[in-house]
Amino acid sequence: MTDQYGRQVRYLRISLTDRCNLRCRYCMPEQGVDLCAHADLLRYEEIVAIARAALDCGIDTFKLTGGEPLVRRGVPVLVAALKALPGTRQVTLTTNGLLLGDQLDALVAAGLDAVNVSLDTLDETQYHTLTRRAFAPGAVVDTVRAAARRLPVKINAVLLPETADQWLPLARLAADPGVDVRFIEQMPIGKGEADPGLAGDKVLAVLRQAWPDLAPCHEPRGNGPAHYYKSAGLTGRIGFIDAVSHRFCASCNRLRLTCTGMLRPCLCYDDGTDLRALLRGGAGPDELKKAVEQAIAAKPEGHCFGAGHGSRQTMNRIGG
Ligand code: SAM
Ligand code: SF4
Repeated sequence: MTDQYGRQVRYLRISLTDRCNLRCRYCMPEQGVDLCAHADLLRYEEIVAIARAALDCGIDTFKLTGGEPLVRRGVPVLVAALKALPGTRQVTLTTNGLLLGDQLDALVAAGLDAVNVSLDTLDETQYHTLTRRAFAPGAVVDTVRAAARRLPVKINAVLLPETADQWLPLARLAADPGVDVRFIEQMPIGKGEADPGLAGDKVLAVLRQAWPDLAPCHEPRGNGPAHYYKSAGLTGRIGFIDAVSHRFCASCNRLRLTCTGMLRPCLCYDDGTDLRALLRGGAGPDELKKAVEQAIAAKPEGHCFGAGHGSRQTMNRIGG
């Protein structure tokens, strides 16, 4: 279905939980996280019912996210259920990678099409400071390599001033077959609001010192707003998600479903439709479809970050 600004909406990001085993500085508070009650989370059968309604409206691609989606039990079961729906084109996952190694076999068997792994630094001290947890980034890299032998993998790194020395080491991971590396501008949402962002152009200038032939590549890749560069020295691509500096809204093709069932037309605004209330109030497929159509029609033309009033919710709740 096309929205009022001519954008075809084909993609639904589904947050499975607001819980996470990390506390990334730009995403969640360090302490006192206000978690929602288990009973308030959408059940898997409710998510599948919403996905059916979305498919009826022309959405055919689902991304599972969170919080950390893999802290929720049975994700491969949900992947298989979504893949089994007639019309589903792709089901992918965004994860911090810590639990991916253990679940990789089951996820691949369930039909997962691709995975995004968030990793902002390879430096252990920086990783501990940024994530406020004592896990090893090296283990995430090992999992990325294991996953890339079976699925397309994209590494997502949020751009932060203190990890500038990591841009090159992170980009070098795109020398591995099956791995793209993408740099994301920090968005002024939730905990990201306090920090000044860094523009993707700065990274490109640094990477060009190592790969002077880095050039834009125009073939479509993935479902998102990234733009990509290629070098003869890298097997994978380098991507940029310029969420703030170059507004990506003109090509925005997505809706977001929060873990408690709010369907949101835009990341930036807090309004949405409470699909959980509809479902638990006995709504059938037609009412759900109408609600999805309304959300597509309500997509605003663009985000409001520059205006200094992003969403008040933290990213783990929205499903970044
Ligand atoms: N826990 C999973 C992960 O980290 O990939 C999935 C959820 S996380 C909210 C999804 C993505 O949002 C991650 O790539 C994370 O880096 C990104 N993110 C969180 N807060 C952000 C912010 N303020 N600006 C830009 N990206 C952000
Ligand atoms: Fe957790 Fe992902 Fe947010 Fe980091 S970015 S705190 S891993 S939900």
